[in-house]
Amino acid sequence: MPYTPPTDEMQFVLEKVLGFEHPELDSETIAAVLGEAAKLAGEVLAPLNSVGDRDGCMLAGGHVKTPAGFRDAYRQYCEGGWNAVPFDPAYGGQGLPWALAFPVQEMWQGANMSFGLCPLLNQGAVEALHAHGSDALKETYLPKLITGEWTGTMNLTEPQAGSDLSVIRTKAEKQGDGTYKITGQKIYITYGEHDFSENIVHLVLARSPDGIEGSKGLSLYLVPKFLEDGTRNDVVCTGLEHKLGIHASPTCTMQYGDRGGATGFLVGRENEGLKCMFTMMNNARLSVGLQGMAISEAATQMAEAYALERVQGVSLVTGKPVPIAGHGDVQRMLVTMRVLTDAGRMMSYYAASHLDKAAAGDTEAQKIVELLTPVVKAWCTDRAVEVASLGIQVHGGIGYAEETGAAQFLRDARILPIYEGTNGVQSLDFVFRKIARDKGAAALGWLEGLGPCDSDVDGVRCELISLVRALSEADPGKLSRAAEPALQAFGTFVGAVFMARATSASEERKDASAFYEGVILPRARAAIASAAYLLDN
Ligand SMILES: Cc1cc2nc3c(=O)[nH]c(=O)nc-3n(C[C@H](O)[C@H](O)[C@H](O)COP(=O)(O)OP(=O)(O)OC[C@H]3O[C@@H](n4cnc5c(N)ncnc54)[C@H](O)[C@@H]3O)c2cc1C
Repeated sequence: MPYTPPTDEMQFVLEKVLGFEHPELDSETIAAVLGEAAKLAGEVLAPLNSVGDRDGCMLAGGHVKTPAGFRDAYRQYCEGGWNAVPFDPAYGGQGLPWALAFPVQEMWQGANMSFGLCPLLNQGAVEALHAHGSDALKETYLPKLITGEWTGTMNLTEPQAGSDLSVIRTKAEKQGDGTYKITGQKIYITYGEHDFSENIVHLVLARSPDGIEGSKGLSLYLVPKFLEDGTRNDVVCTGLEHKLGIHASPTCTMQYGDRGGATGFLVGRENEGLKCMFTMMNNARLSVGLQGMAISEAATQMAEAYALERVQGVSLVTGKPVPIAGHGDVQRMLVTMRVLTDAGRMMSYYAASHLDKAAAGDTEAQKIVELLTPVVKAWCTDRAVEVASLGIQVHGGIGYAEETGAAQFLRDARILPIYEGTNGVQSLDFVFRKIARDKGAAALGWLEGLGPCDSDVDGVRCELISLVRALSEADPGKLSRAAEPALQAFGTFVGAVFMARATSASEERKDASAFYEGVILPRARAAIASAAYLLDN
């Protein structure tokens, strides 16, 4: 069953649930943008998803060949102007709000997550360069990264430096002309090498020339595959990972400095590399949450369609053979998949709409983005694994075979809780930086400012407020143990808030919201109890 981008649902969430308004974007314009993106996603990218899974990428002589059809799809994507959607018009971007860019991105990710990773990483590179690059670097690199003629990557990870970037060894040495020589090895670099574009612009976290140990000695460098005069830089892909999923997304080992050192240009200030990289990572973390929700949508659509076709067993009412969608347990799985997906969509678009407000100088909105970034990343991606697994369950045995594509969704989704900071790291970010650091002010402000909720949701809110207060006073050891259930409780609650808002916008959502409240929301209570236990013991 092909993926159909749910454009009506996207527009419902944007306009009716989130009250999105924009002087230049009326409903017809939004529908037109979504409709055009849906054509590319549904007709070009989605049919390539299984091809990419089956054929994967190939590495020969430092060159990576992506699966048949991907390069042409990328060309169509760029020609349609899709790469430029949210970026600064001063550098050729379309300047559209993130609130609209997110639904558009959702389609690339839902149709073909392996493909969607290239623009996702590029988006992070553009944001980091835009925020921290010199005027000269911005003028040289941003226009082409924005059209998609060139693509950007994010080079953090090294064999000994995954979650802990403070032990990065790749190093930079200052040259007389103000450039740097970069030497070292990076691993797991998404789209580090490929055949989509003529140039690839790597943003590399490396140890500064003064070599201070720890994360304070790291700087960010821009290292292009080809320098401005056309010279090939000293960076090469030496390996591709064979992995569980996202086979069409090349995961590269990158060697810098086999021939004396790759030429790099400092982005931002020396020793502030981590700060600059976080511009990129925060942006990417929300988008990874979006990927989770997008793949949940695709898995749910596939399971819903299959359950209507597959006849097995008889109806308990009529005694006649029925499609499996007629069985209570299958209905439970399908509705669980649907409500988790819908809740994830609402919370990720909500965060995106606050990115726009924050960019316009709204400091309260900025606090909400910061609070919700680890929640959207971890909750939506954990749910993606759950939803994709349920998708296989709905299919029965054929779901475990590769034939339907249900298994691919689970294999692809499984990376989501790992990259862009594992979900364990997200939960630590949530409790230490987003709760304990300001003594719970942002979380409590958000929870208390929600206005009236119905009684069950309100009950959980009260428990969550107590938990946030306890977290903000806990010692670090206990805080880290309670972090994961605390994040899960918060995410599950946020989902309930938006499911209720959807019902206020449309009565038709009543049943879904009631299901969420009755079946999913109790998970928040259980998680609060777990977190409280871990704080006390
Ligand atoms: C397909 C793929 C694509 C990737 N793309 C990129 C990319 O484009 N660029 C890039 O730079 N990197 C990329 N990565 C790397 C990815 O971001 C890391 O794998 C991830 O950050 C985890 O690091 P690690 O693998 O070293 O795991 P580790 O850091 O070794 O973690 C192992 C486990 O220990 C836990 N853990 C670690 N430290 C702590 C702690 N302090 N407290 C509690 N728990 C902890 C983790 O949560 C995890 O469960 C990619 C990885 C993969 C597999």
